[in-house]
Amino acid sequence: MTTYYHVDGDLVPRAEATVSVDDRGFRYGDGAFETLRAYGGDLFEWAAHAERLERTCDALSLEHGLSREALRDRIDETLVANDFADAYVRLSITRGVQPGTLTPRPAVEPTVVVYVKPLPRGGLEGEPVYDGPATLQTVKARRVPDASLPAAAKTHNYLPGILARTELYDADEALVRDLEGYVAEGTTSNVFFVTESGLHTPTTAGPVLPGITRAVVLELAEEAGIPVSEGFYEPTAVREADEVFLTNTTWEVRPVTSVDGLAVDAGPVTALLSRLFDKRVERTCYGGT
Ligand code: PMP
Repeated sequence: MTTYYHVDGDLVPRAEATVSVDDRGFRYGDGAFETLRAYGGDLFEWAAHAERLERTCDALSLEHGLSREALRDRIDETLVANDFADAYVRLSITRGVQPGTLTPRPAVEPTVVVYVKPLPRGGLEGEPVYDGPATLQTVKARRVPDASLPAAAKTHNYLPGILARTELYDADEALVRDLEGYVAEGTTSNVFFVTESGLHTPTTAGPVLPGITRAVVLELAEEAGIPVSEGFYEPTAVREADEVFLTNTTWEVRPVTSVDGLAVDAGPVTALLSRLFDKRVERTCYGGT
């Protein structure tokens, strides 16, 4: 079955979905994107993703001229065209073709692409999309400081994360620190850990992408009466924690079983939050109670 992508307003078969070699997204990584999940045909946390995309575009001074509704329509059309109810969705907006100069021109004809890929069902009857729990390794590569690239912006520039991943030898996600040495996040995920005093996660006052899944998990933890703190933590705090897990849109809540080679037990707080997350998906997207 051919998958259809949405490119600049048209649905096109994946094999024919192309953008120009002069596109600034290709030349410079000059673009914004969001990764979303559709559950039962419904986009989970669409408003939060749309807001973050707007913030990213503001940070890049990228005025693409498309409304939130127009973007959503393109995603919905792509899901319908492929008959995908449960899917990975990526929406990318680049500054388009502007040959010859690094300086962005204010008049933008953006390149807008929607990519989709089928995923298993989520929610209470769902199955995880990852093969198993994650293993974490502290890497040398540091998070780009906010003063160079605002951490809250989700841009096409993933080289720091790619370099961090190339350092991994016996782990599948990197524990990335900021320039001061505090834990920031993974390369495509936010980091949480559990101690006697409750649930902890690096604060977005540091160079941390404000993950949409992170925000949902924080809300669920508070509702469940789990004490939550956001702060600046050394990697040893993660290594010595009772439980560690990662969050992102695709993985949802993914347990971690080792940090820098030290085993971490799968634990009850991670299991509870994972179940509460599934319940939230079931209720908001599959019409559950
Ligand atoms: N940090 C980084 C660097 C990421 O790329 C991602 C994935 N978008 C996340 C955290 C998790 O964010 P979200 O929960 O919105 O997918």
